[in-house]
Amino acid sequence: MGLDLVVRGGTVITPQGAGAWDVGVQGERIAVIALPGTLPTEGARVLEAAGHVVAPGGVEPHTHLAHPIRTRPEHPSETLGPEDDTRGMACGGTTTHIDFCFVRPGTELPEAIERRAARWQGRSHVDYSFHVTLCGALPLRVFDQLPEAIASGFPSFKVFTTDVLPPHPARAPFRLDFGRIQLAMQVAAGHGGLLVVHAEDDELVQTAYERFRAEGRLDGANMHLVHSKLSEQLAFRRAIGLARATDSAVYFVHTSAREGVEAVGEARAAGAPVYAETLHQYACFDAEHYRTPRGFCAHTYPSLKLPEDREALWRGLVHGGVSTLATDEYPTSLAVKLQGRTIEDVTGGNLGAEARVGIAYTEGVVKRGMSLARFAEVTATNAARIFGLYPRKGVLAPGSDADLVLIDPTIRRPLGHDDFHVSDYSPWEGWEVAGWPVTTVLRGRVIADHGRVLGDPGDGRLVPRRIDPAVLGRPVC
Ligand SMILES: [Zn+2]
Repeated sequence: MGLDLVVRGGTVITPQGAGAWDVGVQGERIAVIALPGTLPTEGARVLEAAGHVVAPGGVEPHTHLAHPIRTRPEHPSETLGPEDDTRGMACGGTTTHIDFCFVRPGTELPEAIERRAARWQGRSHVDYSFHVTLCGALPLRVFDQLPEAIASGFPSFKVFTTDVLPPHPARAPFRLDFGRIQLAMQVAAGHGGLLVVHAEDDELVQTAYERFRAEGRLDGANMHLVHSKLSEQLAFRRAIGLARATDSAVYFVHTSAREGVEAVGEARAAGAPVYAETLHQYACFDAEHYRTPRGFCAHTYPSLKLPEDREALWRGLVHGGVSTLATDEYPTSLAVKLQGRTIEDVTGGNLGAEARVGIAYTEGVVKRGMSLARFAEVTATNAARIFGLYPRKGVLAPGSDADLVLIDPTIRRPLGHDDFHVSDYSPWEGWEVAGWPVTTVLRGRVIADHGRVLGDPGDGRLVPRRIDPAVLGRPVC
């Protein structure tokens, strides 16, 4: 067997658990996982992984790159694009990301997908796909285009149950009405698709904005009282009720509250295909953090919550119930991220895709006893399964793409400015880590090594997705 790459001597996380294995790669795929020292290395590049953890390349299911910043619609601007942000993903051990393709009234699905794919073509260091976001008062005939999108490899549809921000004449709505969400669920359920839901109770949120303005309580540190725990509780339960009535599978983005985790847990216990995502900053920070000088760096909608919520999120990540750890990546400069201070004008989104795998290792594996198998699930495998990339992505097994990351568990220090490769700041500067990604391999090629980007922005490819029917029938991960 002629191998092109051998990853030798590491602790490898496989579906059968973590152990001492060598990984043999032919071309872009894993050919074999073998006992240590048994693989032929003539003609192969050898990556020495002794003392390292070898994990599946991260799958980041929630990014907003090259995305209009809607906080100040009177000053149009965009987040950084894939050419910038995926450098960080490469260095941080993430080899696939899923961004969004927005469909608003006046847009047809196929053209929207084509435009987004053209923006990424030749500009991403890692592989990618897009969720199709359905926004606003879409004509009903748009929903007839969903089956074609599913068939062409885009089987996940994002909807917002809220406009998220206070009304503004120049801001297009995010919210899809509940009847149209029902329609999207019905069509998706009938054709192998899944709903991705930003679930907050729009009326509670919008009335809270009005009340807080009337009461002069505009300080952004009140954000968790506007985008409240109750709002998450009511909206998650309403969306779950609709999903169960339509036999649809549903994935909740950025679960932020204990109430969200509990709603998802009850539905899953009853056998419903309901999945929760959370974000590393939701698990690591609470609303007190908003009062610190750079506190709004960790803000994204809905909001940071309370210590009890952080605990519930970690319980779900470590022991089950929360399936994925994502970012809600929204890369901007520090000046843009911190330009607002009130509940009406702070900038949402996180800059954390580069830190995600390393933070999950430190906070999950080292501090909270998460198994290496579970670490791989929440950073890679589960997102790949839920969104139809598995087993090509998210797993170290023969036949899968040779996407992997070497983590050095002996790196113990506070993160510094130089550890990051996107924008002029990271919310994770100063965070003490115990273990950090050092080498990233995408389809058999080393694309980053010890903070140096070795790949090209043309390396990433659009990956067609197809969701396993089991994922849509019951909670499989
Ligand atoms: Zn988002």
